[in-house]
Amino acid sequence: MGDNLYNKVFDKHAVRKLDSGQYQLLMGLHLIHEVTSPQAFAMLRERGLGVPFPERTFATCDHIIPTHSQLRPFRDDLAEQMLVELEKNCADYGIRYLSPKTGEQGIVHVIGPELGLTQPGMTICCGDSHTSTHGAFGAIALGIGTTQVRDVLATQTLAMEKLKVRRIEVNGQLRPGVYAKDVVLYVIHKLGVQGGVGYAYEFAGEVFDRFSMEERMTVCNMSIEGGARCGYVNPDATTYAYLRDREYAPKGKAWERAIAYWDSMRSDPDARYDDVVKLRGEDIEPMVTWGITPAQSTPVTAQLPAASQFAQDDRALIEEAYQYMGFTQGAKLAGQKIDVAFIGSCTNGRFSDFEEVVRYLKQSGKKVQPGVRALVVPGSQKVRERLIKAGYDKVFTDAGFEFREAGCSMCLAMNPDKLVGRELCASSSNRNFKGRQGSPTGRTLLMSPVMVAAAAVSGSVADARDVFSIQN
Ligand code: SF4
Repeated sequence: MGDNLYNKVFDKHAVRKLDSGQYQLLMGLHLIHEVTSPQAFAMLRERGLGVPFPERTFATCDHIIPTHSQLRPFRDDLAEQMLVELEKNCADYGIRYLSPKTGEQGIVHVIGPELGLTQPGMTICCGDSHTSTHGAFGAIALGIGTTQVRDVLATQTLAMEKLKVRRIEVNGQLRPGVYAKDVVLYVIHKLGVQGGVGYAYEFAGEVFDRFSMEERMTVCNMSIEGGARCGYVNPDATTYAYLRDREYAPKGKAWERAIAYWDSMRSDPDARYDDVVKLRGEDIEPMVTWGITPAQSTPVTAQLPAASQFAQDDRALIEEAYQYMGFTQGAKLAGQKIDVAFIGSCTNGRFSDFEEVVRYLKQSGKKVQPGVRALVVPGSQKVRERLIKAGYDKVFTDAGFEFREAGCSMCLAMNPDKLVGRELCASSSNRNFKGRQGSPTGRTLLMSPVMVAAAAVSGSVADARDVFSIQN
């Protein structure tokens, strides 16, 4: 019987089994940013340790960087201090820092693939939960904590358990107006936020086969929201076409050798899995979250569920969500007035995400409703540059969106982009936890970028297929 990609990559990178039962796993690529790395470097200094493989570590700044202007010094002293520390640490340890000055700065999970650093068959880690994004290339990509960042800096290895593997197959056709974001929200809705605990998710089937790399990244990005430690798609011609000629992609003969290796890492047709889930693309509708976890979602056309529909054990959380969000069981989310619209983040801050929105803004000529604060925040400087080159920045600003500098922005709001009070935000990001967008009482509705745009131009949650006349 054959094996799956997860097991193949894991076994190739396992240095040894530890007494704890965990494995010491070699990390091919380590990405760092300004928030989770300063303490790790401080711990290295305390213990007199160095970074033996600085060429395998890359740094950027994303969480705290303001998106109004990247001019230094930042108004926020703490943010400025974090950046100064990152600069010093990178200089001291010989780590390449993709600073705003290089034109290559951006959200860590956007720039890795952009530069061709993220490659199939690799082990990748970063002190950020959404490192799972990189699994779109057929890599094992793990979000890690600060002490693990220290461990990887000092040893280029990580101690971890071997996961079970669940294959999630989505076959058939997606209907017009249904996007990668809807697919992953649907998967999480079906399997729950704890459903993936102890698993790596392998996304497979006709829908993922047809997806572009950017769509695959959107799905893998949110594996972690379904409880999975990582998620991946097997590499194929789409993966190789995306990677070819990128700065860090192998060149010449090395490219041919790399393709042979990457092909060999794919899951075998007779691979064994710990679990298999099969879903139909036709069953998926544009999804919107209504609660305080990414699993608390509904098709935009549906009524909000009654707490009584859920298992007894889940009802307390359902009631808590309704109380926090201020919605009524059985009501429809469509028509609910919004205050803020945010398009960006490592889930949906890539060129194709914005391009799809631009298509509908141009076609419809619709404008952001008065009273709605609408932000477009590119995931990287390169994405921003491409948008400007295509003239899309103007489409956004003409429609009433603010077109910002690259960064995490309102996804986590560790920068000036925050919700105020109980504002309700239609957001293309990945987490709708209480207070996630910077206000302790702020409320987040997760949805696809096109659905965010539909909400922005309607002033309320709306079915993008109706707003933009997308033929169903
Ligand atoms: S965009 Fe959000 S989820 Fe992604 S790295 Fe930034 S803060 Fe984390």
